[in-house]
Amino acid sequence: MNRATKAAVDVGIVAVDVANVCRDTTLPARFGLDRLDLVLDAWSRQIYEHAEVYPVVDRTLMAELSRVERRRVKASCARQEMWVRRRGADDLLLDLAEELGGCVLSRDRFLDHRRKRAGWIKERFFSWSVDAAGVRVGLRPSRNTQRFDVSRREEQKLAASRGIVDLRDPSMRRRWVCVSAAPCETRTANPVFLRVLPVLQEGTPHCPGCGHALADRGERPWQAEVKLIADEAELGRFTIEQDDPIEFGRAILPNSPELDRRGRRGQFSDLGRVHVNLRLDRGQLLASPADDGHRVWVQRWDASERRFERRIELHPRDGFTPIGLRDKLLIGSRLELHRSGRSVAEAETLGLPGSEEPWQAMKTTK
Ligand SMILES: [Zn+2]
Repeated sequence: MNRATKAAVDVGIVAVDVANVCRDTTLPARFGLDRLDLVLDAWSRQIYEHAEVYPVVDRTLMAELSRVERRRVKASCARQEMWVRRRGADDLLLDLAEELGGCVLSRDRFLDHRRKRAGWIKERFFSWSVDAAGVRVGLRPSRNTQRFDVSRREEQKLAASRGIVDLRDPSMRRRWVCVSAAPCETRTANPVFLRVLPVLQEGTPHCPGCGHALADRGERPWQAEVKLIADEAELGRFTIEQDDPIEFGRAILPNSPELDRRGRRGQFSDLGRVHVNLRLDRGQLLASPADDGHRVWVQRWDASERRFERRIELHPRDGFTPIGLRDKLLIGSRLELHRSGRSVAEAETLGLPGSEEPWQAMKTTK
């Protein structure tokens, strides 16, 4: 922990995810507020003795608590010593910690909140573990969360809100289009087929824009959404489909203002017009450099160590190399391609080489 983050996070202020604590079966106490008392006791003994505590309760917990415990929660709420939220408990928890400069105590990783919140400080997040000596509270160990997992979680949350319990539902293997006569932004934005998740009502897909039943446009081909990353920043996305290989390079970069800006500054000067050939085989992304002059590496994700291995250079003579879901494809000195965790790709496919985006005609050193 460096000095800046130490100063930014006050361990004397802690927002507690009450439902997460109460439901944690690894804690020795019985279900409910006894577990909260146990964890808060550990906080005061191990982290800070007289901390200000802000317990936030997800309302779904209330139905699981005993009558006596429900009464205790209500009394605490009346005294403004506890907060119950029907929805948005996570947001309240994170807001409190951020605004007061304090900590969050939870075993949740809040993956679906990370991207939305600027200044995510991992030193803010505390968790607990249980060993022979009892409950230990400490900084949550970093699991080096992958972008892939963040976007997968975001999609799962969106799917749940649209009535899709399982993204492997057969209706997700088909393409849908809105054909209603009602004004519909979703239809305007997706005239050929939907690039967004439908709403499932009693097993039938409906339009998320106007609510009308959707028309079936046949089987959805295998597809993968790919992100372009440079210096940790996401610059754009595109979709690759089965039987539709891509000659990826400067000639067909997705249309993105940030890519454009960086391109004009010469950041992708070693990116060839056609740099790497990509194709998709039943969901498996494959890559092969266009020729020996265009350098491409893969960096494999080691799931057991939760870190990337050393990069390996790909060569045209090796043919197409499979790229794992969490692996990085390094293209030249700057650009990386990562898989998105989305199962329904929302990004556009890439245009044919030669379409004249202004900066694609820019001068490069190569
Ligand atoms: Zn519609």
